[in-house]
Amino acid sequence: MIKIYGKHLAMQRIESFRSSGRMPHALLLYGAKGIGKRTLADYVAMTYVCEDKQHAPCMKCRSCRLAAEHGFPDIAYPLPMIEEEHKRDTKKNMVEMLRAFIASCSAKPIDSDVRVVVFGQIDRLSVQMQNTLLKFIEEPLDFNKYIFTADNKAPVIQTVLSRVTAVNVDPADREEFAEALSEHKFEDEHTVPPARITELFDMFGGNIGAAIEYEAGGESVQYLAAALKACDAVAARRELDCLLALLSLKTRDELFGTIGVIADIMAQAAVFKSGAALPGAFRKQTVRLAESFSLEKITAMYEEMNRLYGKSYTNPNQKLFAAECTSSLMRAAAR
Ligand SMILES: [Zn+2]
Repeated sequence: MIKIYGKHLAMQRIESFRSSGRMPHALLLYGAKGIGKRTLADYVAMTYVCEDKQHAPCMKCRSCRLAAEHGFPDIAYPLPMIEEEHKRDTKKNMVEMLRAFIASCSAKPIDSDVRVVVFGQIDRLSVQMQNTLLKFIEEPLDFNKYIFTADNKAPVIQTVLSRVTAVNVDPADREEFAEALSEHKFEDEHTVPPARITELFDMFGGNIGAAIEYEAGGESVQYLAAALKACDAVAARRELDCLLALLSLKTRDELFGTIGVIADIMAQAAVFKSGAALPGAFRKQTVRLAESFSLEKITAMYEEMNRLYGKSYTNPNQKLFAAECTSSLMRAAAR
């Protein structure tokens, strides 16, 4: 069954929607990569379809159990399928496949009184794909509910944002973080000792997913390591090291993941520089940047990173783009 760590504010908002009978027809869950948006999306989907309307999601009824296994017929996850199909046959147009899926949603749900459609990572979709989705949510049928997730709101088009209820997914606290890390079953069956958990918490704050990925040391964590290296390089004004960190990434997705994390760290450094308490995650880099630059420069770097992250849907040449990111950061730092 689904276990939710942290996310207290997000859960409170969802519970208040549910208990007042006002579950939104389109919900956007946003927050840092790894924070647990997918798990929360599954939880909300369950809330919509649960047979026990008083205690939804009860996690016991047939609908809840099937939903937890992604086996409930009226909860759809179309994007991974569309992307797979497009990878298999690049002649197949993603926008057209999305349109066909949307058309299929005018039929009534099969097993429940609602259909829940989960669209992950809409911040990575092209403007054309987002506009196609817009048509879907602009004229909603009563039985269709939508859950979107995004690491970053900046690339989501304004017309979509204006039609969704956005809920920020908040991180776990230190205790929940420790519990999740110690309970996690790593593939090599190693356990994480308390000292390492403290170290990981200082690095990732309450971002359990990111910490687990990092601790597992898989390929997928390269984007995080690169973001930390790039921030260290910027703080030390070493342009070449920053460029090398960004060039080390193999895929476009990793590069945009890195840019997203750098933007988050810059935002934190700006807040910290303005006198707020040291935030939970990426403490070392936050302090280094705050010590190395004025607030204006940090803000300028943050804005540059956000602008570049917004280009994720334009499909740039990866190497040139890494170079553009580096020079933008360095220019903002020298301004
Ligand atoms: Zn249930």
